[in-house]
Amino acid sequence: MTEFGFIDSIRRAFGSLPDNDFEGIGDDCAVYPVGGGESLLFTSDMLNENVHFLRSAASAAEIGAKSLSVNVSDIAAMGGRPIATMLSLGLTEDAVGEWAEEFMRGYRDASERCGAMLIGGDTTISESGITISVTAIGRCADGNIKRRSDASVGDIVFVNGMLGASAAGLKDILSGHTDTANARVHRNPVPQTEQGLWLGGQPCVHAMMDISDGVASDLLHIMKASGVGASVDTERIPTEVSVEEAVCGGEDYKLLFTADPLSAADLERRYRERFGEDIYRIGRITGPDRSGIVWLDNGREVSPDWHGFSHF
Ligand code: ADP
Ligand code: MG
Repeated sequence: MTEFGFIDSIRRAFGSLPDNDFEGIGDDCAVYPVGGGESLLFTSDMLNENVHFLRSAASAAEIGAKSLSVNVSDIAAMGGRPIATMLSLGLTEDAVGEWAEEFMRGYRDASERCGAMLIGGDTTISESGITISVTAIGRCADGNIKRRSDASVGDIVFVNGMLGASAAGLKDILSGHTDTANARVHRNPVPQTEQGLWLGGQPCVHAMMDISDGVASDLLHIMKASGVGASVDTERIPTEVSVEEAVCGGEDYKLLFTADPLSAADLERRYRERFGEDIYRIGRITGPDRSGIVWLDNGREVSPDWHGFSHF
């Protein structure tokens, strides 16, 4: 069974239990309305040694910062502000002490950058490999929450930054080149905290999520949740590496979102004014008449042979 098949089966198994007012499994965060027009957001992500990071290829501080950042990214993906995290560590004997202290320094610096307080967690010994589990909590005005299920036919599909550097960096790291610019990008993801908050406040932005697996996989989640189709213009993918790395690589932690076509030009202008950076139109939301993403190359449909590209 695939990871997503397993998650679907979990969701079905719990479908008959009371939801206690939570919007649960299926989006970047679970949502819990707390009244006064606001909701709390909850998300968890785990990092395992030798699966998500190599101790030989990243500093403890980088791993600490990344553990926090990938979770905060899911809060940004809903349009929320991170407020707190909980951190559970399974430390091997040789990581207790200096490694763990360096890890916490990185975790604290990244927490300070995004304004999230560490409010609890757990610390245990692990017999094989370090395990790191973070739960992040955010808050969001109810009207600003951006769900994967809100894409409309005709929407423009946007990403808010260059894609593929992280995948190229992982390739570098796995071939022993840990010092390249892309390897540093891979080790130091930047959560789009302010960008997510700002996009959350734009009514013309409909669906949003963060890019953790790559557009080729992540856009399918928006399509499935919204019951729509999508086409992507491969020549418009913003990247300095290959288009394949950009759409299949993952771990870019940029935002993927859809917006009303009538407001798209205005959105591009105001985003540039606010952040001094561009958002990139990469495609369109279409009717649900096709099973997968339709890939276009200068308007001509193509069937790219993207396979065998793996990421953590
Ligand atoms: P993301 O990449 O945004 O963190 P995932 O692909 O990890 O999202 O998860 C998709 C959805 O499935 C999320 O809503 C997540 O909370 C939920 N999920 C993943 N694993 C589990 C699990 N073991 N139990 C319950 N929910 C899960
Ligand atoms: Mg996500």
